Amino acid sequence: MNGLWILRGLGVTLKHFIETYIEDFRQGKKRYFTAQGIEQRRSSKTRGIFTVQYPEEKLPVPEEFRYLPFLVYEEVNGQRKLRCTACGICAKVCPPQCIWIVRSTDPETGRPVPAPSEFYIDVDVCMNCGFCAEYCPFDAIKMDHDYEIASFDRQREHVFDLQKISKPVTYYAKIRPGNYAEEQRARMMKEAAKTIA
Ligand code: SF4
Ligand code: SF4
Repeated sequence: MNGLWILRGLGVTLKHFIETYIEDFRQGKKRYFTAQGIEQRRSSKTRGIFTVQYPEEKLPVPEEFRYLPFLVYEEVNGQRKLRCTACGICAKVCPPQCIWIVRSTDPETGRPVPAPSEFYIDVDVCMNCGFCAEYCPFDAIKMDHDYEIASFDRQREHVFDLQKISKPVTYYAKIRPGNYAEEQRARMMKEAAKTIA
């Protein structure tokens, strides 16, 4: 009885094997390394091979996909202006405590300034939960789609600093267009309410 199931399994493998060649012949070069080819192979109607040739080919990720957090900055008169106020809420809610923030101070008065002078995330400890982005009251920290961070040097490469985690708001709008539009709408409504009041 077991032998019969093994034969049936081998039959399925053989069917995929033959169909792969038939589809290769039918679709030609556009079957691999093209957006159309990837889309076709990941659809339920695909026949033959359905795996992607990573890293040359990558599956598109959905908007809500999340990997590591990044800080959003706006470009104001050619200068980077981080949205982060160094309030520390993200560091407080982070379950594995992998965020480290140092608040800026005014060089003349020594008083605290609502901006980070240092901001570190230990990305090997981060569990990609998204709590930091969820709780940030300033929409200053968002979850990235970039998952390619492999390296041989954990100490140097995997403790991200301010420079490494800061990305422009245009990048955020590109990877999360729905979220960005919704936040912009909410911001505009808040501004309009202030004007009326
Ligand atoms: S990212 Fe948001 S929650 Fe974290 S310190 Fe900056 S403003 Fe506060
Ligand atoms: S995604 Fe989760 S684990 Fe990673 S830094 Fe944010 S709160 Fe911490």
